[in-house]
Amino acid sequence: MFTSIFLAINVALAANLPRSDCHDHEQHRRLPGNWYHECDHPVHNLFKRGAPGDGINYAEVGSPSWSSAFPTSTPDTSQLPQAWVDALNDAVSSGKIPNIPESTSTSDRSPVYPDGFDPDGSEVCSSSYQCRIPEDIWDAPTGTLGIGFDDGPLPPTPRLVTFLQSQNQSATHFMIGSNILSNPNQFNAAYNIGGDIAVHTYTHPYMTTLTNIQVVAELGWTMEIIHNSTGGRVPRFWRPPYGDSDNRVRAIAAEVFGLECIMWNRDTDDWSMESGGTTMRAISRKMKKWLTGPKTPGLIILEHELTTDMVQAFINAYPFMKSNGWNTTSVARLVGDGRPYQNSNNDDSTVTADGILVAATPSATSSITG
Ligand SMILES: [Zn+2]
Repeated sequence: MFTSIFLAINVALAANLPRSDCHDHEQHRRLPGNWYHECDHPVHNLFKRGAPGDGINYAEVGSPSWSSAFPTSTPDTSQLPQAWVDALNDAVSSGKIPNIPESTSTSDRSPVYPDGFDPDGSEVCSSSYQCRIPEDIWDAPTGTLGIGFDDGPLPPTPRLVTFLQSQNQSATHFMIGSNILSNPNQFNAAYNIGGDIAVHTYTHPYMTTLTNIQVVAELGWTMEIIHNSTGGRVPRFWRPPYGDSDNRVRAIAAEVFGLECIMWNRDTDDWSMESGGTTMRAISRKMKKWLTGPKTPGLIILEHELTTDMVQAFINAYPFMKSNGWNTTSVARLVGDGRPYQNSNNDDSTVTADGILVAATPSATSSITG
């Protein structure tokens, strides 16, 4: 009798599992920590984990088999994994993606919508017009400063991460997928010291100008290359290039991929240093004003790792962040309660030979502020 009850329970459990290979690994759930992909995690079918028995092995970052797995430029929307296309179609047909037309991008960097669609209105809510979608993150908690850098990995990245490591300072890198493909060593430099990797699209377009399926391609391939280069971690956060998003783009990121959007509330304009739009001194003046100003809301400062000068502007400002009493933390950990990834409860965890994530210490995530 006990045997038949046991079998019945097992059959019932198996019926609830989305993939049979999950069942093989159920026993490991008793160990400390979590799988990168829990069996019932919604991203399970979008980004397949690599583990013994799954038939997937992650190629070494930078190797020919790794490189050949990703697009070299703008992703072809007719060559997407079917699971991504199905997830978009499901989200559209269930009414989760607002029917807002694409914008057209103009030379003054303000996307334009067809007549009848107000970029400032609640239906469109374009972040290029500073309309704040309530679910997006623009501010940090009081007294905190979220550290993050856009557009890497690039040749200046190692200089930045060497400094971060010397200060025991965590940071988020909003990475461009095609830059990861071109700069695997710089990617490893950021990731291996514990940098949090987030999504900044594959080829850095104005996202509101893209069709739904193009949005899926830009986000999906960036997540895929991060997933396959970090032992299976699925990023939790993204940042739109030029800060250009709206309710349609936000919904695709959230509903198809589970991504949350981190914007910013202070802009150094460091990206314009090369063209003479700003200078090291001007950035320094801005930083001192912000860092000696009110602690509410906390700061999320837009910075880039495009050039060594931009990295140096951050290094110059860093002592003032500390001397003015700011709690400086990787922005993804800061706003994500210590969880920069969707499928890992503790990014300080290590992976065993069985592909199991083991927590370093129970309090590891909450104790990281540096
Ligand atoms: Zn960017």
